Amino acid sequence: MSKLRLAIVGAGPAGIYAADILLKAEKDFDVSIDLFEHLPAPYGLVRYGVAPDHPRIKGIINALRDVLDRGDIRIFGNVRFGTDITLEDLQKHYNAVIFATGAIRDADLKVPGIELDGSYGAADFVNWFDAHPDVPTTWPLNAREIAVIGNGNVALDVARMLAKHADDLLPTEIPENVYQGLKASPVTDVHVFGRRGPAQVKFTPLELRELGELNDVDMVLYDEDFDYDEASQEAIATNKQIMVIDRVLQKWRKEPQEGSSRRLHLHFYANPEEILGEDGKVSALRYERTKPTGFGGVEGTGEYREVPVQAVYRAVGYFGSPLEQIPFDEARGVIPNRGGQVHDINGDQIPGLYATGWIKRGPIGLIGATKSDAMETIENVLADRATWWTPEAPEEEAIPALLEERGVAYTDLDGWHRLDEHEIGLGEPHERARIKVGHRGEMIRISRDEPAAE
Ligand SMILES: Cc1cc2nc3c(=O)[nH]c(=O)nc-3n(C[C@H](O)[C@H](O)[C@H](O)COP(=O)(O)OP(=O)(O)OC[C@H]3O[C@@H](n4cnc5c(N)ncnc54)[C@H](O)[C@@H]3O)c2cc1C
Repeated sequence: MSKLRLAIVGAGPAGIYAADILLKAEKDFDVSIDLFEHLPAPYGLVRYGVAPDHPRIKGIINALRDVLDRGDIRIFGNVRFGTDITLEDLQKHYNAVIFATGAIRDADLKVPGIELDGSYGAADFVNWFDAHPDVPTTWPLNAREIAVIGNGNVALDVARMLAKHADDLLPTEIPENVYQGLKASPVTDVHVFGRRGPAQVKFTPLELRELGELNDVDMVLYDEDFDYDEASQEAIATNKQIMVIDRVLQKWRKEPQEGSSRRLHLHFYANPEEILGEDGKVSALRYERTKPTGFGGVEGTGEYREVPVQAVYRAVGYFGSPLEQIPFDEARGVIPNRGGQVHDINGDQIPGLYATGWIKRGPIGLIGATKSDAMETIENVLADRATWWTPEAPEEEAIPALLEERGVAYTDLDGWHRLDEHEIGLGEPHERARIKVGHRGEMIRISRDEPAAE
């Protein structure tokens, strides 16, 4: 074989890193890579997950753009695997495919009352504040007191975005509708609930520290949460990250409240039991106080408490979605695989199919982790050369021809540049990094350089 034709589905960091690593790998054959992306713009959760007030992380987009701009990867945006392009298509045109489809929806939280009006998933809120093109542009922000369930970075992102004053978000790429929505929010208290103790949290020190830097927001901690058991003391003594987290929390405990107009409460050892409602609307969160087991876990104490809230956001993790004709592990929300090699329910490897990123390993970990993930997957792709598919139509022109024949309005790299420049231009007069276009049709129109409708 003189050329590997590879399809990658998903242009988030995992898909783009996989392409980059493969192109740089030592090999004795040529490679041509096509990236298929459901959205009209690339970068996955870096664009549609990372909060707008995290410009340093959003800046990873520059490194990902450099990979695409090198010119040896084609990108087909607004193309959904499963409808616009199928597994049979890929088998006909490529030697192998890597799925890098990530995770976009909230994991379930099975507590009574979760269906009440005012109970939301973090992913939906994140989609709204990051201008995802497939969600409504309005978000109900009418609660004065809000509960956020979860103790990971997404929970902190959600709590921060809810508590932060909208004007402090203005220099970021926050969309105008989001600014207006947050500006009108009557919120005074945001309560974050973690089932375990301060020494068992999943969030990272940087994200925690940021909460204390919010203008006109007081941090509220509760002394009863800091009576550490031996396992917690050991975690603080031996784990640098936990040590720093403890230091930050202890500092806040000592600081006097400043009488700010908003408060952000951190509750630990609080296991949500039920969302209570009145007239179908959220009215309170009922939780059971927990206590450490002595082995790093917690158990219920039988003591129940209620905090009045008018909205509840669950930030208990993202979850992958199944892809048509591809095996899926319903329990873990991933494509079953070993080192990225996809296998069927009997554990047998399926030739030609690979996975990387969050859909390979589950929705945990920072963007950097998708790079090491991609390295492992690419190593296995290269090692499997003998079992790759033999495509009947490997010509590069076949793909745009197929999409055009099907009437798929795909976007390409030039189109992305056009949209990128357009968004940056929209932001300039307002001294904002960019203003995202949040309407799919409009994104496609600008990318494809088509005239606006009369
Ligand atoms: C709210 C939030 C905040 C975060 N903040 C940070 C942070 O500050 N710092 C950090 O390092 N990490 C952060 N992360 C984690 C980071 O976003 C992930 O580690 C990373 O995005 C995972 O990359 P991925 O490529 O596997 O998935 P994704 O980024 O989800 O990309 C998957 C891509 O596949 C596409 N796709 C899905 N299905 C199909 C289909 N059927 N056909 C075609 N395309 C499809 C999607 O549209 C998407 O573009 C955050 C995550 C979330 C959820």
